[in-house]
Amino acid sequence: MDFLKKLGIEDTNHGTSTGQQFLGDGSQQTITSHTPVDGSPIADTTVTTREEYDQVIETAQEAFKEWRMVPAPKRGEIVRQIGLELREHKEDLGRLVTYEMGKIYQEGLGEVQEMIDICDFAVGQSRMLYGKTMQSERPEHRMYEQWHPLGITGIISAFNFPVAVYSWNAMISAICGNVMVWKGSEKTPLCGIAVQNIIGKVLKRNDLPEGIFNLITGGREVGQWMTEDERLPLISATGSTRMGKEVAKTVGARLGKTILELGGNNAIIVSKDADLEMAARATVFGSVGTCGQRCTSTRRLIVHEEVFDELKDRLVEIYEDVNIGNPMDEDTLVGPLIDEQAANSMQRALQEVQEAGGEIVYGGQKLDKKQLDGGHYVRPAIVKAENDFDIVQEETFAPILYLIKYNELDEAIAKHNGVKQGLSSSMFTLNMREAETFLSARGSDCGIANINVGTSGAEIGGAFGGEKETGGGRESGSDAWKAYMRRQTNTINWSDEMPLAQGIEFDV
Ligand code: NAD
Repeated sequence: MDFLKKLGIEDTNHGTSTGQQFLGDGSQQTITSHTPVDGSPIADTTVTTREEYDQVIETAQEAFKEWRMVPAPKRGEIVRQIGLELREHKEDLGRLVTYEMGKIYQEGLGEVQEMIDICDFAVGQSRMLYGKTMQSERPEHRMYEQWHPLGITGIISAFNFPVAVYSWNAMISAICGNVMVWKGSEKTPLCGIAVQNIIGKVLKRNDLPEGIFNLITGGREVGQWMTEDERLPLISATGSTRMGKEVAKTVGARLGKTILELGGNNAIIVSKDADLEMAARATVFGSVGTCGQRCTSTRRLIVHEEVFDELKDRLVEIYEDVNIGNPMDEDTLVGPLIDEQAANSMQRALQEVQEAGGEIVYGGQKLDKKQLDGGHYVRPAIVKAENDFDIVQEETFAPILYLIKYNELDEAIAKHNGVKQGLSSSMFTLNMREAETFLSARGSDCGIANINVGTSGAEIGGAFGGEKETGGGRESGSDAWKAYMRRQTNTINWSDEMPLAQGIEFDV
């Protein structure tokens, strides 16, 4: 495979790097990465040892001393060059994302584009780490605030966005003056190596020290070294709610900071006043895209009873036409699930929803793809269900769309908000009062709420994240950069008196 070679992926890769330099001799424990396309092995990556981990952290601590004093716009210049390098490797990296994770090539390319976009955003942001100037109540005093970097940002990411989520964190964190230690998912280690190789070229060209962008590799245990480690003041973790609860507990116990981006159970409300064709198309992209393995996947469709049957029939029609197969082929819209476990949990969920009284209206079968033997291909499912079924309350990471009926808007919003997660939400309506209600304080309780735009495919310019069991973190655009910095309030007295605040008299 030409793209693997071009990204510097070998049969055996070192999984630990402090920048340009990879550590280890390859004789340790390894992870074999298998492609979900047909289950065949791609390459091996060594798992980071405890000694290597400590070496990485020490190198990062040294690098921080230098990097924090580089002017922020100059840090932005490095990120600008990373964006250019990513443009050069867009097709190859997009192909690797597809090959190692299983999302279709268009979405693989989209992920790399997101990396490029966040680099561009971060370059501009590097000149805008604004603090406020406040009016002091004391004469000839000046008060202002400034933002300083935290130190090492630990980034733990999930398999389903193996490169983009890292860049949302790393590029913003880097311009803020932090150094990064990244542990990607054990299901997609090669994506991490490829990104590290791309960034390494920029570091080398600029003669930067080791320790600014670091990569470590492994599973939960390596992640736990990070969450327990007081040398990492901030942990940004993306993954399941189960993982997030463990991370929050461990980091909270040492009063560290977290940014948590966890599971979603996203819904679209479709009003009787909706443009049904637009609603149908947005729903299909949201529910079958990435084979239902996006945190923002549309999992519940809450439809007004007057248009329920019409929309259901239209969805079935579109689902019948969706091309399922090899994600590397340009005309495929739905690739495989990541692994057997994911395929089994989809089957379990379908079983459970039927036992609860739900009805499968379309799909759900495991597909026999002779030429892709070893991949876990499924037909996306549409299921009539009730919002309070236990299984509907859960995030099943597979393409299952639950159809739920409503009559009154308040009832639709109550159902919409009646789950533990709170990531992305949307309403399709041409009725302005309904739209504004959905976006108001008594509307959607999610971090993202859209009108006539589906639940997935967020732009990087907005702050991304969700409420409740989604974890409350915000990443990417808007003022999400503040989570990577510490705020300092400064008061300067340029008078020759020592007045106290609140007019307190204290004569000494
Ligand atoms: P996962 O929770 O199994 O693993 C995520 C990462 O956490 C991996 O790198 C894993 O090694 C690490 N990890 C697991 N347990 C840990 C622990 N106790 N301490 C430290 N690290 C630990 O998730 P996954 O299956 O890779 O990804 C799917 C999940 O991620 C879904 O729930 C999805 O909704 C969520 N997700 C959320 C967002 C978001 O922005 N909200 C984005 C992508 C994925």
